[in-house]
Amino acid sequence: MDMVKSDIEIARAARKLPITEVGERLDIPSSHLLPFGHDKAKISAEFIAAQQSKKSGKLILVTAINPTPAGEGKTTTTVGLGDGLNRIGKKAIVCIREASLGPCFGVKGGAAGGGYAQVVPMEDINLHFTGDFHAITSAHNLLSALIDNHVYWGNELGIDVRRIVWRRVMDMNDRALRHIVSSLGGVANGFPREAGFDITVASEVMAILCLARDLKDLEERLGNIIVAYRRDRSPVFARDLKADGAMAVLLKDALQPNLVQTLENNPAFVHGGPFANIAHGCNSVIATTTALKLADYVVTEAGFGADLGAEKFFDIKCRKAGLHPDAAVVVATIRAIKMNGGAKKEDLGIADLDAVRKGCANLGRHVQNVKKFGVPVVVAINHFSSDTNEEIAAVRDYVATLGAEAYVCRHWADGSAGIEELATRVAALAESGASQFSPLYPDDMPLFHKIEAIAKDIYHASEVLADKTVREQLHQWERQGYGHLPICMAKTQYSFSTDPNLRGAPTGHSVPIREVRLSAGAGFVVVITGEIMTMPGLPRIPSSEKIYLNEQGYIEGLF
Ligand code: ADP
Ligand code: MG
Repeated sequence: MDMVKSDIEIARAARKLPITEVGERLDIPSSHLLPFGHDKAKISAEFIAAQQSKKSGKLILVTAINPTPAGEGKTTTTVGLGDGLNRIGKKAIVCIREASLGPCFGVKGGAAGGGYAQVVPMEDINLHFTGDFHAITSAHNLLSALIDNHVYWGNELGIDVRRIVWRRVMDMNDRALRHIVSSLGGVANGFPREAGFDITVASEVMAILCLARDLKDLEERLGNIIVAYRRDRSPVFARDLKADGAMAVLLKDALQPNLVQTLENNPAFVHGGPFANIAHGCNSVIATTTALKLADYVVTEAGFGADLGAEKFFDIKCRKAGLHPDAAVVVATIRAIKMNGGAKKEDLGIADLDAVRKGCANLGRHVQNVKKFGVPVVVAINHFSSDTNEEIAAVRDYVATLGAEAYVCRHWADGSAGIEELATRVAALAESGASQFSPLYPDDMPLFHKIEAIAKDIYHASEVLADKTVREQLHQWERQGYGHLPICMAKTQYSFSTDPNLRGAPTGHSVPIREVRLSAGAGFVVVITGEIMTMPGLPRIPSSEKIYLNEQGYIEGLF
């Protein structure tokens, strides 16, 4: 067997350009590039503001079928496609999310792509990077501290301490902190109450940072956060605590996008990282809109499968930011298709044409769904060494029956040379003007009807089940002026249904709603179906056990 190099070995061997040179290629003057070391930089808010009148390039979304637990290579394909476009002479920028520390030390799997399609410096990107997540953690926890402090000094706003909905955050997987009792230890420490921690990427501040257009918009959204309710159930906002100004101050630098490079020295923006369940799961609006001003093509990724990731990208991010996507790529792997066709996780390396044929229904559903948004779509088969020619042919034949095309992509093994064909096709599709993007539902549709539209049109469910309290809550928000907000679905990423084991392309299922939450600052209504985790735990053997510094002081074991 060939020795396959690990992601970190490949990344460490990268011949990086000084970040100023990467910036020069985008005509960013060095005075507007705020460097962190030699290979990372933020782009100044002034420079960004000065680009607004420029023409925007083409926007390409990378999404995927319902995945295997390992992920389907969306980030890897996003990075590969960016390199592929540059290789065929186009000016392209990649836009992806930043990594959370929690998963880094938990289950193996980085956020910087893989193989020969990575962004570097991968160690930094997967660890502290430019400190954005620390700033978000601080801004979030400042608000938490202000709430308890307000109650301590007399509670003039009349906060019902049993109805404080703003928790605390840290960027670590720590199940011990999910539910805690705070303010113990006597009179001097305030009023004991039930509280808890979420992981930083689940913070509404993260979602806000990623949807904000500029600093002013950021501050306004921060002020709109609902932190608690009074006994009469009226909301208390962050602005009532006068928290918005100081929070914006803490986030001022974090709002500026981070520039790095791919292994092939092409520019990449890595900025923001909202959860793909209780938030919308895409990189920041500022990074995407800025990249569109600086390049002819911007390739970006949405988290999870297309039923969640692409839907939220279109209905939340694009709707709110006025973005017009020009083409979409649905990433499929033979492995995930087989899993959707009934194969077991441990058998994914074994050729199984029958499972491939069955599992294609899942791919087909996602392709048809993306078309419902008016965006032209192609399929990228992210090639694994265990794939057989027969399996690949079966998928290509199936995709042809949908009136679409599938391209085998070998960017993980070969870098941009392995993805030229897809890049050429995507560029042509984006230039064709074929996209007639429109979101799935209009702003003025009642909230419950919006949920039904997603469940029926995207998940192919027959009904949405919600008890009276949920429906009444939605009506109440409509009366309070939140009816125009889009829906942010929190659902398992493994199935079109709410049952992670129901793979393939199920129809006629029910979508039971467990809970609804208002993210008034971010500007969406979160609809929770089934269990969702806002503070993950670590596995029995966390990957941190294998991470260490070697004798030269280099990081080992980080993927
Ligand atoms: P996603 O963004 O869909 O979650 P990633 O791009 O982060 O997935 O990839 C998940 C993992 O799979 C990474 O460790 C990556 O190196 C690996 N991977 C991706 N594509 C391939 C491939 N073609 N062959 C082998 N491993 C791959
Ligand atoms: Mg990813």
